[in-house]
Amino acid sequence: MSALEAARELFTGSFGARPDGVWSAPGRVNLIGEHTDYNEGFVLPFAIPHRTFAAAALNGTDEIRVRSTFADDRVVVPVADLGGIFPTPAGAAPAVPEWSAYVLGVAWALWMLQPDAPAPGVDIAIASDVPVGAGLSSSAAIEGAVASALNDLWELDLDPVALARVGRRAENEAVGAPTGIMDQMSSMLGRPDAATFIDCRSLETRSVPTGFASAGLDVLVIDTQVRHAHATGGYRERRASCERGAELLGIRSLRDASVADLPRAEELMDDVTLRRVRHIVTENQRVLDTVAALQSRGPRAIGDLLVASHASMRDDFEISVPELDTAVDTALANGAIGARMTGGGFGGAAIALVAHADVGSVTGAVTREFADAGFAAAHIFTVTPSEGPRRDA
Ligand code: ADP
Ligand code: MG
Repeated sequence: MSALEAARELFTGSFGARPDGVWSAPGRVNLIGEHTDYNEGFVLPFAIPHRTFAAAALNGTDEIRVRSTFADDRVVVPVADLGGIFPTPAGAAPAVPEWSAYVLGVAWALWMLQPDAPAPGVDIAIASDVPVGAGLSSSAAIEGAVASALNDLWELDLDPVALARVGRRAENEAVGAPTGIMDQMSSMLGRPDAATFIDCRSLETRSVPTGFASAGLDVLVIDTQVRHAHATGGYRERRASCERGAELLGIRSLRDASVADLPRAEELMDDVTLRRVRHIVTENQRVLDTVAALQSRGPRAIGDLLVASHASMRDDFEISVPELDTAVDTALANGAIGARMTGGGFGGAAIALVAHADVGSVTGAVTREFADAGFAAAHIFTVTPSEGPRRDA
């Protein structure tokens, strides 16, 4: 059963009626630009075909009632109570089951935009084919699907960027996850065969055609299934190093440094801080170079940039793990044009840019290499840059 049908079926089974409609939004993968977002730098993600679906309808009551195939519980909250439940105090767990805070948090953030407008009760049932916790942003997908549904049912007429901001507010203030806006923007601005360039300082965005389809290329996602417990601690530590590096350079953020500043950085800071800074500065340049290469020479020209990005994360930023290095090395040894880990690191997924004809052999080689190394089996699938939110029914 497709996730769309699953959402519809869960709706009917839970609420005893047919939904008014079904809305969906995609997950995303980051093509290049890692840990640059919180340094006010550049990222280049794209929306993937995997989507989260929200079947929804006005229910004629004052309550929001939510279900998901992801959880057994059904969560019911009067709309008027959302303002008492959120924002979640810093460091505390949400007052509702965590998964439902994504859904109810979006309703709250939308309502906060127009607190005097009526926000009638709704029923929402969620189903998804975005892998959860793999770094493919199932969180932005659920936020985007719910925001799109409520935008229509509550007749708010907000544009995709406004809905992306609503998703981020829900994630930051209702769920309590301190994330940037990259995930929501890439989901909400997704276009077939294009990536979204985001300047994380100005929040200016630009759609950049990838040309993967016409060049006969696929992006292979290799989800290592590794979920490291120290990911949060490692993330915090990297952020602190970046802030220290900027301070030593006397700039507001590492966005304001360029490759030409690296010799000076070498004199000012210890080796670890220098390497963290070097990753960010060179990664920002690689994002710009990737956009330029896609525009002037096409997608086969970005392979070396992906490879350099991985080396920088492995050696300078030190956020890779053996499974990710094996995935990247094996893909490259078997014909991939480029490959790199993607996402925050310490586990999660790698991507490889591969010609259609080589997808089978790269997949087979990575599978064998993982088995030989004694790693858990990787989950491997192709993605193509896909469209953003839509109403499906
Ligand atoms: P990622 O975004 O990388 O997949 P996150 O930790 O940011 O990982 O978000 C995952 C969380 O989002 C899940 O633990 C769950 O709380 C929520 N979530 C994602 N998809 C769904 C879904 N289909 N139904 C309910 N909750 C979901
Ligand atoms: Mg997420």
